[in-house]
Amino acid sequence: MSKNNHIEFPFKMMASFAVFALIMSGCGNKDAENKDEQSSKTTETFQEDVDSKESLETQNPKKNEQEVVRDAGGYIVGQELPKEATYISDLLIASKRYPLPADFAPGEDPEARAAFEELNAAGILEGYTFNAFSTYRSYDRQVELYANYVNRDGKEAADTYSARPGYSEHQTGLAFDIGEVGSEQFFADEGFGKTEAGKWLAKNAHKYGFIMRYPKGKENVTGYMHESWHFRYVGKDIAKDIYNNKSTLEEYLEIEK
Ligand SMILES: [Zn+2]
Repeated sequence: MSKNNHIEFPFKMMASFAVFALIMSGCGNKDAENKDEQSSKTTETFQEDVDSKESLETQNPKKNEQEVVRDAGGYIVGQELPKEATYISDLLIASKRYPLPADFAPGEDPEARAAFEELNAAGILEGYTFNAFSTYRSYDRQVELYANYVNRDGKEAADTYSARPGYSEHQTGLAFDIGEVGSEQFFADEGFGKTEAGKWLAKNAHKYGFIMRYPKGKENVTGYMHESWHFRYVGKDIAKDIYNNKSTLEEYLEIEK
């Protein structure tokens, strides 16, 4: 690479590889859509991982930059599952940067379930009956699912549509995959976002405390491809804030994907 060319070029190239590598499904219940483009390893600069909530809140994010290596699935190479779950500003996080302990097993969150029922009651008044077809999934269940997908399609392909054990937001009990009763063909399908029910949900879920966790156009912020069916309960105030700012949980909390 010539020194006379734009100096930022290698960085941009890496960044675009990172986009390819990191746009993955967080749900793990969608059929494979294998994507061929891969660079085997991508690097990026990021805030050094910190364990405790206090240090996350008090440290300057730019202070401890270091390089991490991501594998083709977008996971940080060498990362082990933590002993404790990560809470930032009292919000439980599950992502490729902040995985969950294997023994973290809260079950479905009752407050999130109640909020879903409230949302559904409002939907029914508009003619949409919703079904939360996948909510809490245990670590062991994710082990099983992921292993099945790897057996069927190979690891590289499985990583594009299924979270590895410990990395699924469904293990928090706060993630709800939502579809419309009678439109099961759109469960965990991108077509759901184009249905009237999907559009209504996208516009109204925040009123009941849910955010669309992986919005379109934010793939490089969340690290996941858009999922029109995957909602995360965060409570009404935060959900409204994120919705009104066309934001994401990562941006709201100012954390790396
Ligand atoms: Zn999901």
